[in-house]
Amino acid sequence: MVSVRSAGKVLIDRLFVRGTVTAIDMVTPRMRRIVLDAPGLEWTPGQHVRVAADGVMTRRTYSVWDYDGTSLELYVLDHGEGPGARWARSVRPGQEVVFGKPEGNLVTRPSAYHLFAGEETAAVAFGPMLRALGEVPVYGVVEADTPGDRLPVDLTWRFREGTSAASSDSLVQAVRDLDLPDEPGTAYVAGEARTVQAVRAHLVRDRGWPRRSVVTKPFWTPGKKGME
Ligand SMILES: Cc1cc2nc3c(=O)[nH]c(=O)nc-3n(C[C@H](O)[C@H](O)[C@H](O)COP(=O)(O)OP(=O)(O)OC[C@H]3O[C@@H](n4cnc5c(N)ncnc54)[C@H](O)[C@@H]3O)c2cc1C
Repeated sequence: MVSVRSAGKVLIDRLFVRGTVTAIDMVTPRMRRIVLDAPGLEWTPGQHVRVAADGVMTRRTYSVWDYDGTSLELYVLDHGEGPGARWARSVRPGQEVVFGKPEGNLVTRPSAYHLFAGEETAAVAFGPMLRALGEVPVYGVVEADTPGDRLPVDLTWRFREGTSAASSDSLVQAVRDLDLPDEPGTAYVAGEARTVQAVRAHLVRDRGWPRRSVVTKPFWTPGKKGME
């Protein structure tokens, strides 16, 4: 007879992946790299995983910075006291992490050129997307708090210097300032939800881009817990 407990474990093993933490370090003063040993997954650059931050019912979403078929790298911003931020601060090498398989539609499409816009957590998804693109024209802006928050992502970086990433007029302005080709390309806009909406509104309303050419992914917004 199968106990409820072992049936639950079988279900979790079917739905989730178990990885072991092999390394943790700070890539910027506020961005923590967590490396998991998790062989055999399928991942497309730009996709994310949903980590069990406080039991499998409290999951938080993190983009995959890199995956070589064995080691999966997450970059987690240390922003507050939510379950995700607490999990990232407390996890240690050797510990097991339960998470869902890589998923998500923030992935590049064939396009004449690509435009990226977002804040520091969006840059975690943009990094691998850019690395996979090859020789296609790329434009874009990432807004981070300070120069120390910059990740190795080859886009124009702007700094908020203490102002909020939420409803960021300065990111919209930075996208407005870009000298883009006349014809639309494909845009990938991620990060704080209201800023994402404002950047999309600029591209669609002011530049006449079709909505389908703008791939949006809200990552977080003030007052909302775990956007996905
Ligand atoms: C597809 C996707 C990919 C993501 N990739 C990454 C990633 O690679 N790295 C990463 O760090 N985050 C990433 N995020 C964002 C992350 O999932 C959220 O920040 C999540 O809310 C963190 O959980 P938490 O428990 O720490 O905070 P929660 O309890 O979920 O949120 C509490 C409050 O914290 C504040 N908050 C949340 N996130 C931020 C933030 N980034 N900056 C400032 N304030 C914030 C908000 O006011 C929110 O109401 C991603 C989200 C999505 C949907």
